Amino acid sequence: MSKKPGLTVLAGPTAVGKGTVSTYIRDNYPEVWLSVSATTRAPRPGEVDGVHYFFKSTEEFERLIAEGELLEWAVVHGQNTYGTLKRTVNEAIEDGRSVLLEIDLQGARQVKEAVPDAKFVFLAPPTWDEMVRRLVGRGTETPEEQQRRLETAKLELAAEPEFDHTVINDDVRRAADELVSLMGLTPHAHLQE
Ligand code: 5GP
Repeated sequence: MSKKPGLTVLAGPTAVGKGTVSTYIRDNYPEVWLSVSATTRAPRPGEVDGVHYFFKSTEEFERLIAEGELLEWAVVHGQNTYGTLKRTVNEAIEDGRSVLLEIDLQGARQVKEAVPDAKFVFLAPPTWDEMVRRLVGRGTETPEEQQRRLETAKLELAAEPEFDHTVINDDVRRAADELVSLMGLTPHAHLQE
Protein backbone atom coordinates (compact mmCIF):
# COMPACT_ATOMS: atom_id res chain seq x y z
CA MET A 1 0.00 0.00 0.00
CA SER A 2 1.25 3.48 -0.77
CA LYS A 3 1.64 6.11 1.95
CA LYS A 4 -1.67 7.27 3.38
CA PRO A 5 -1.39 10.52 5.30
CA GLY A 6 -5.21 10.64 5.61
CA LEU A 7 -5.33 7.52 7.73
CA THR A 8 -5.80 7.53 11.51
CA VAL A 9 -5.86 4.39 13.63
CA LEU A 10 -7.72 4.39 16.94
CA ALA A 11 -6.87 1.50 19.23
CA GLY A 12 -6.94 0.86 22.95
CA PRO A 13 -8.01 -1.70 25.48
CA THR A 14 -11.30 -3.51 25.33
CA ALA A 15 -14.35 -1.66 26.71
CA VAL A 16 -12.50 1.65 26.81
CA GLY A 17 -15.21 3.08 24.58
CA LYS A 18 -13.53 2.99 21.16
CA GLY A 19 -16.83 2.04 19.58
CA THR A 20 -18.74 4.85 21.30
CA VAL A 21 -16.14 7.49 20.41
CA SER A 22 -15.89 6.35 16.79
CA THR A 23 -19.69 6.15 16.42
CA TYR A 24 -19.96 9.68 17.80
CA ILE A 25 -17.45 10.84 15.19
CA ARG A 26 -19.27 8.98 12.40
CA ASP A 27 -22.57 10.64 13.40
CA ASN A 28 -21.21 14.15 13.96
CA TYR A 29 -18.28 14.56 11.57
CA PRO A 30 -19.34 13.67 8.03
CA GLU A 31 -15.86 14.64 6.81
CA VAL A 32 -14.51 11.55 8.60
CA TRP A 33 -15.07 8.15 7.04
CA LEU A 34 -15.21 5.42 9.68
CA SER A 35 -14.04 2.16 8.16
CA VAL A 36 -16.51 -0.73 8.26
CA SER A 37 -14.64 -3.91 9.18
CA ALA A 38 -15.32 -7.46 8.13
CA THR A 39 -15.90 -9.94 10.95
CA THR A 40 -16.86 -13.54 11.59
CA ARG A 41 -18.72 -12.45 14.76
CA ALA A 42 -22.50 -12.84 14.72
CA PRO A 43 -24.46 -9.56 14.61
CA ARG A 44 -25.67 -8.17 17.94
CA PRO A 45 -29.26 -6.94 18.13
CA GLY A 46 -29.58 -3.77 16.06
CA GLU A 47 -26.37 -4.29 14.10
CA VAL A 48 -26.78 -3.97 10.34
CA ASP A 49 -24.63 -5.70 7.72
CA GLY A 50 -22.60 -3.14 5.81
CA VAL A 51 -23.18 -0.43 8.42
CA HIS A 52 -21.62 -1.75 11.62
CA TYR A 53 -19.66 -4.61 10.09
CA PHE A 54 -19.60 -6.77 7.00
CA PHE A 55 -20.65 -10.05 8.63
CA LYS A 56 -18.81 -12.97 7.03
CA SER A 57 -18.71 -16.73 7.38
CA THR A 58 -15.36 -18.26 8.30
CA GLU A 59 -14.99 -19.46 4.70
CA GLU A 60 -15.72 -16.00 3.28
CA PHE A 61 -13.22 -14.43 5.68
CA GLU A 62 -10.55 -16.97 4.76
CA ARG A 63 -11.10 -16.07 1.12
CA LEU A 64 -10.56 -12.37 1.90
CA ILE A 65 -7.24 -13.23 3.57
CA ALA A 66 -6.14 -15.56 0.77
CA GLU A 67 -6.95 -13.00 -1.90
CA GLY A 68 -4.99 -10.24 -0.12
CA GLU A 69 -8.09 -8.08 0.36
CA LEU A 70 -7.27 -7.08 3.94
CA LEU A 71 -5.02 -4.26 5.14
CA GLU A 72 -4.86 -6.03 8.50
CA TRP A 73 -6.73 -8.75 10.32
CA ALA A 74 -6.68 -10.40 13.73
CA VAL A 75 -8.41 -12.90 15.97
CA VAL A 76 -9.69 -10.68 18.78
CA HIS A 77 -10.15 -12.02 22.33
CA GLY A 78 -9.14 -15.45 20.99
CA GLN A 79 -12.57 -15.76 19.46
CA ASN A 80 -13.76 -13.99 16.32
CA THR A 81 -11.78 -12.68 13.37
CA TYR A 82 -11.91 -9.03 12.30
CA GLY A 83 -10.25 -7.24 9.41
CA THR A 84 -10.04 -3.99 7.46
CA LEU A 85 -10.87 -4.09 3.75
CA LYS A 86 -8.13 -2.44 1.66
CA ARG A 87 -10.50 -1.49 -1.13
CA THR A 88 -12.95 0.58 0.92
CA VAL A 89 -10.14 2.38 2.77
CA ASN A 90 -8.34 3.20 -0.49
CA GLU A 91 -11.54 4.47 -2.09
CA ALA A 92 -12.27 6.79 0.84
CA ILE A 93 -8.72 8.15 0.82
CA GLU A 94 -8.85 8.67 -2.95
CA ASP A 95 -12.11 10.59 -2.39
CA GLY A 96 -10.13 12.90 -0.09
CA ARG A 97 -11.86 11.74 3.11
CA SER A 98 -10.09 11.46 6.45
CA VAL A 99 -10.25 7.79 7.30
CA LEU A 100 -10.57 6.41 10.81
CA LEU A 101 -9.90 2.77 11.65
CA GLU A 102 -11.21 1.54 14.99
CA ILE A 103 -9.32 -1.69 15.46
CA ASP A 104 -7.55 -3.79 18.06
CA LEU A 105 -3.90 -3.54 18.97
CA GLN A 106 -2.74 -6.47 16.83
CA GLY A 107 -4.35 -4.81 13.83
CA ALA A 108 -2.85 -1.42 14.71
CA ARG A 109 0.63 -2.99 14.69
CA GLN A 110 0.01 -4.45 11.23
CA VAL A 111 -1.14 -1.06 9.91
CA LYS A 112 2.03 0.47 11.36
CA GLU A 113 4.05 -1.93 9.20
CA ALA A 114 1.97 -1.31 6.08
CA VAL A 115 1.35 2.43 6.48
CA PRO A 116 4.04 3.83 8.79
CA ASP A 117 2.99 7.44 8.29
CA ALA A 118 -0.58 6.87 9.43
CA LYS A 119 -1.51 8.52 12.74
CA PHE A 120 -1.78 6.16 15.71
CA VAL A 121 -4.00 7.21 18.61
CA PHE A 122 -4.38 5.26 21.85
CA LEU A 123 -7.70 5.63 23.65
CA ALA A 124 -7.16 5.14 27.39
CA PRO A 125 -9.66 4.73 30.23
CA PRO A 126 -9.63 7.37 33.00
CA THR A 127 -8.94 4.50 35.46
CA TRP A 128 -8.78 0.71 35.43
CA ASP A 129 -11.86 0.48 37.71
CA GLU A 130 -13.85 2.60 35.32
CA MET A 131 -12.93 0.28 32.48
CA VAL A 132 -14.02 -2.83 34.44
CA ARG A 133 -17.27 -1.06 35.31
CA ARG A 134 -17.93 -0.29 31.65
CA LEU A 135 -17.20 -3.82 30.51
CA VAL A 136 -19.45 -5.42 33.12
CA GLY A 137 -22.13 -2.73 32.72
CA ARG A 138 -22.37 -3.28 28.97
CA GLY A 139 -23.92 -6.68 29.70
CA THR A 140 -23.31 -8.03 26.22
CA GLU A 141 -20.72 -10.63 27.25
CA THR A 142 -20.86 -13.71 29.46
CA PRO A 143 -18.75 -13.64 32.68
CA GLU A 144 -16.18 -15.93 31.01
CA GLU A 145 -16.02 -13.60 28.01
CA GLN A 146 -15.68 -10.57 30.31
CA GLN A 147 -12.77 -12.25 32.11
CA ARG A 148 -11.07 -13.03 28.81
CA ARG A 149 -11.51 -9.44 27.63
CA LEU A 150 -10.10 -8.01 30.89
CA GLU A 151 -7.01 -10.19 30.53
CA THR A 152 -6.53 -8.88 27.01
CA ALA A 153 -7.10 -5.32 28.26
CA LYS A 154 -4.24 -5.55 30.78
CA LEU A 155 -1.80 -6.43 28.00
CA GLU A 156 -3.28 -3.77 25.75
CA LEU A 157 -2.82 -0.99 28.32
CA ALA A 158 0.92 -1.67 28.31
CA ALA A 159 1.05 -0.83 24.59
CA GLU A 160 0.37 2.88 25.03
CA PRO A 161 4.00 3.98 24.36
CA GLU A 162 3.80 2.50 20.85
CA PHE A 163 1.30 5.20 19.87
CA ASP A 164 1.80 8.77 18.63
CA HIS A 165 -0.89 10.22 20.92
CA THR A 166 -3.07 9.22 23.88
CA VAL A 167 -6.63 10.42 24.33
CA ILE A 168 -8.33 9.79 27.70
CA ASN A 169 -11.94 8.76 27.30
CA ASP A 170 -13.31 10.66 30.30
CA ASP A 171 -16.18 12.06 28.22
CA VAL A 172 -17.18 10.74 24.81
CA ARG A 173 -17.79 14.11 23.18
CA ARG A 174 -14.59 15.64 24.52
CA ALA A 175 -12.50 12.60 23.56
CA ALA A 176 -14.04 12.53 20.07
CA ASP A 177 -13.28 16.21 19.57
CA GLU A 178 -9.70 15.75 20.72
CA LEU A 179 -9.30 12.87 18.28
CA VAL A 180 -10.76 14.95 15.45
CA SER A 181 -8.25 17.74 16.24
CA LEU A 182 -5.43 15.20 16.13
CA MET A 183 -6.72 14.17 12.69
CA GLY A 184 -6.14 17.76 11.58
CA LEU A 185 -9.84 18.64 11.43
CA THR A 186 -11.69 21.41 13.23
CA PRO A 187 -13.63 20.21 16.25
CA HIS A 188 -17.14 21.52 16.76
CA ALA A 189 -17.75 24.76 18.59
CA HIS A 190 -18.55 23.30 22.00
CA LEU A 191 -14.84 22.49 22.50
CA GLN A 192 -14.10 26.19 22.45
CA GLU A 193 -17.09 27.09 24.68
P1 5GP B 1 -16.87 -5.97 18.98
O1 5GP B 1 -17.03 -7.44 18.78
O2 5GP B 1 -17.16 -5.55 20.40
O3 5GP B 1 -17.62 -5.16 17.95
O4 5GP B 1 -15.33 -5.62 18.73
C1 5GP B 1 -14.36 -6.32 19.41
C2 5GP B 1 -13.00 -5.75 19.10
O5 5GP B 1 -12.68 -5.94 17.72
C3 5GP B 1 -12.82 -4.27 19.36
O6 5GP B 1 -11.68 -4.13 20.22
C4 5GP B 1 -12.53 -3.67 18.03
O7 5GP B 1 -11.59 -2.62 18.10
C5 5GP B 1 -11.93 -4.83 17.27
N1 5GP B 1 -12.06 -4.69 15.83
C6 5GP B 1 -13.15 -4.26 15.15
N2 5GP B 1 -12.90 -4.22 13.84
C7 5GP B 1 -11.61 -4.62 13.68
C8 5GP B 1 -10.75 -4.78 12.53
O8 5GP B 1 -11.11 -4.54 11.39
N3 5GP B 1 -9.51 -5.23 12.78
C9 5GP B 1 -9.04 -5.50 14.03
N4 5GP B 1 -7.79 -5.91 14.15
N5 5GP B 1 -9.82 -5.36 15.12
C10 5GP B 1 -11.08 -4.92 14.95
